[in-house]
Amino acid sequence: MTLLDTTGVRAAGSEGEALLDVRGLQRHFPLRKGLLRRQYAAVQAVDGVDLQVRAGETVGLVGESGCGKSTTGRLLVRLDEPTGGSNRFDGRDITHLSQRQLRPLRRDVQIVFQDPYSSLNPRHSVGQIVGAPLRLQKVQTPHGTRRAVQDLLALVGLNPEHYNRYPHEFSGGQRQRIGIARALALRPKLLICDEPVSALDVSIQAQVVNLLEDLQSEFNLSYLFIAHDLSVVRHISDRVAVMYLGRIAEQAPRVELYDSPMHPYTKALLSAVPVPDPDEREARERIRLTGDVPSPVSPPSACRFHTRCWKARDLCSTVTPPLLEVAPGHQIACHFPEPATPEATAWAHASSDLDEQVRGDAAAAADLERRLAEGATPVTIASGTDAGRGARRGSSTSG
Ligand code: SF4
Repeated sequence: MTLLDTTGVRAAGSEGEALLDVRGLQRHFPLRKGLLRRQYAAVQAVDGVDLQVRAGETVGLVGESGCGKSTTGRLLVRLDEPTGGSNRFDGRDITHLSQRQLRPLRRDVQIVFQDPYSSLNPRHSVGQIVGAPLRLQKVQTPHGTRRAVQDLLALVGLNPEHYNRYPHEFSGGQRQRIGIARALALRPKLLICDEPVSALDVSIQAQVVNLLEDLQSEFNLSYLFIAHDLSVVRHISDRVAVMYLGRIAEQAPRVELYDSPMHPYTKALLSAVPVPDPDEREARERIRLTGDVPSPVSPPSACRFHTRCWKARDLCSTVTPPLLEVAPGHQIACHFPEPATPEATAWAHASSDLDEQVRGDAAAAADLERRLAEGATPVTIASGTDAGRGARRGSSTSG
């Protein structure tokens, strides 16, 4: 048995260090048919996600419904098995650990679910629900499990006397607090918060968000905060990652992302956020995306956003834009980013050059895609490296 100090704070690694480091994470769900259940296609729910969460940091993960946010969260806690990529937690590769090997890790990574109604067993009392992680992990607390659970209930703003009550006796906000208490029972380092407030009333949302912030400062927790409400994400996050159809489109520090988004999709998403000031609302340009989100079974080629992007050119449908850094801490996957920095402007100009060079030339496009994936930038390629010359050569032979 392990002795857990329910009042103590567990260190979450040194500050600034990546507690969670995800590279190329992938989850394809096979679609099968026929007597032999042959696979004929796959739902590419998550397709090459790169994400880092540092100790004590909150990273917001946003995007439209169905873009793969929740699947990513489930992969990170290994409630689902990834089909590709790597997942390192606290310096250790946990991508392919067995359920037995994962057991100790469950103490460090916990999840808060979206629906506070279905995520609690209605047949179990609050004491059983919140105390379950302690019993499953065979954790011995200084004053017994009952006392530890009551401390946890008090910590999340519930009455410790409600130990024997059942979930149906609580409101939605109180149930979410029970879910948070359960997630905190083992003093985790990282909490995956999967839309923790979207099922709650607005006033209750604020209370739960404030509670999460208080707990973070008290226990040095790290959060991956998954949500589609951009206002909530802006309030709570240090950094924000934007997902589109299973891939990260842009990630940046919060203020930078909200004040000067560079990816067209981020720009469109932010333009839809309601603004209370009527003057500001009048002055703001609303970008309306046309068409529906494409199916993840057969996503568009190269940049998956090209079917809805008003800036799309030939290059966008032939060469996948890699997620590259255009400013310190600001990464985007776009050939023609919005010109928020001189680097992004130079980048867009270089991409225009490359667009001319690879147009209609599949070999040149493939060569360019490979070099971008290897870490080259459009600027270096367009300004005369081998790839640029290769692309130009390909273009001239085809033309
Ligand atoms: Fe739009 Fe092209 Fe950028 Fe994709 S790569 S977001 S299609 S400009």
